[in-house]
Amino acid sequence: MKVVHTQGTCGGVEECLAIAPDYFVVDDDGLLQVARADIDGDDLERVTEAVNACPTGALRLEKILEGRHA
Ligand code: SF4
Repeated sequence: MKVVHTQGTCGGVEECLAIAPDYFVVDDDGLLQVARADIDGDDLERVTEAVNACPTGALRLEKILEGRHA
């Protein structure tokens, strides 16, 4: 699985960063970015919690398709 962020809907509340600081980062412009898209199996529950905690729906989980793993 990977985590995908939609910049336009992000409200900058940083709930995601509080829950999974190793997967998200705030850039020099103060915008939330995904620091690490591919999710380790052991981290899936925690990143899912971060996705669900986002108040604006700016985060989602996507399956990594076979052969398209980047
Ligand atoms: S929790 Fe959602 S709205 Fe808040 S910084 Fe993260 S992606 Fe943006």
